[in-house]
Amino acid sequence: MPDQPPRPEWAPADAGPEFASRVMPGAAGPSAAFTPSPKRRTLSIDDYVAGIEAGDRAVLARAITLIESDAPRHHGEAREVVNRILPRTGRAVRIGITGIPGAGKSTFIEAFGLHLCGLGHKVAVLAVDPSSTLTRGSVLGDKTRMEQLSRHPSCFIRPSPSGGTLGGVARKSRETMLACEAAGFDVILVETVGVGQSETTVRSMVDFFLLLAITGAGDELQGMKRGIMELADAIVINKADGDNKPRAESTRQQYEMAIHYLQPATDGWKTATRTCSALTGEGVPQVWTMIEDFRRTTSENGVLETRRRHQTLEWMHALLEEGLRARFLGDPQIAARREKLQAEVLAGRLSAGAAVEALLDHTHPPA
Ligand code: GDP
Repeated sequence: MPDQPPRPEWAPADAGPEFASRVMPGAAGPSAAFTPSPKRRTLSIDDYVAGIEAGDRAVLARAITLIESDAPRHHGEAREVVNRILPRTGRAVRIGITGIPGAGKSTFIEAFGLHLCGLGHKVAVLAVDPSSTLTRGSVLGDKTRMEQLSRHPSCFIRPSPSGGTLGGVARKSRETMLACEAAGFDVILVETVGVGQSETTVRSMVDFFLLLAITGAGDELQGMKRGIMELADAIVINKADGDNKPRAESTRQQYEMAIHYLQPATDGWKTATRTCSALTGEGVPQVWTMIEDFRRTTSENGVLETRRRHQTLEWMHALLEEGLRARFLGDPQIAARREKLQAEVLAGRLSAGAAVEALLDHTHPPA
């Protein structure tokens, strides 16, 4: 394994292109991540690990495909790759971005990502999109949505994995995030659409959670779920440009008042409210300054480290639950027994509780 590159703790704003070529030798070339050659050599685990650590985008993309694969034969290999790259992960700033469709997420990520690339950062954009799981039609992560950014040599965009449960998508996205970090990306943007459970899932993967909001026709806050506001470290009112500027500012003030009554998402950090225009770029650099400030504050008071530790544990528990469910429900003996018990329940001869107990006792007799 090559030596650990002398990479700074995080976000080396002054690192410049020299840093980029050292950490990511393939970074200067065009984005070839999604154009696999017709005759691809099979990669060994060593190849995956070495390729990722050398910042080879083609290998990174293939590693992510392996991580996303639902084929059981790939699971062990993916797990091994993730385990081997683990020591090189954890240095990136992890940012979640949510907002209703039309709030301007992709426009914002394009402007924000280009700003970060301009500062010398390596930006990976991932998506957690439950709609692509349910309908196979993706709301997020479409590469064409961020045209300029997707062509930038310092950026890597990966659409939401499709298929499986939200839990499955979350597992894949989390491991993809780790692979990107090991490949030298130092800012990870995880985009999700504001439709329920997915925000909680993304919140549990990131350091900083940003809610992108917009001005509506009065009463803006009524439609906004309190729960989502409580997840946010910042509420940024987008589209503060032209005639809309004063309204965006008054929306911001409404949010500012509303958050007084809410529990902040992060200990020691007051949920911030800002306005910006993803279209003109006004206010976009200030969002990054705010996140740097957050990072400094939470590093100094230990909240960041505590959060990351909790997230890892939460992660382990989620994987355990997923594994237990898959093993239990995938067992043919249990499936057969379940069928029988189900028929009994349907016929009204057995209560649901008694059926479940009988099923569980079969594999785990009570002590
Ligand atoms: P998403 O669904 O949240 O990803 O939203 P999009 O980024 O696709 O933006 C939705 C629409 O809002 C598009 O027509 C954008 O051009 C427009 N839009 C996004 N950001 C801004 C902004 O800052 N100002 C204005 N005026 N329009 C914007």
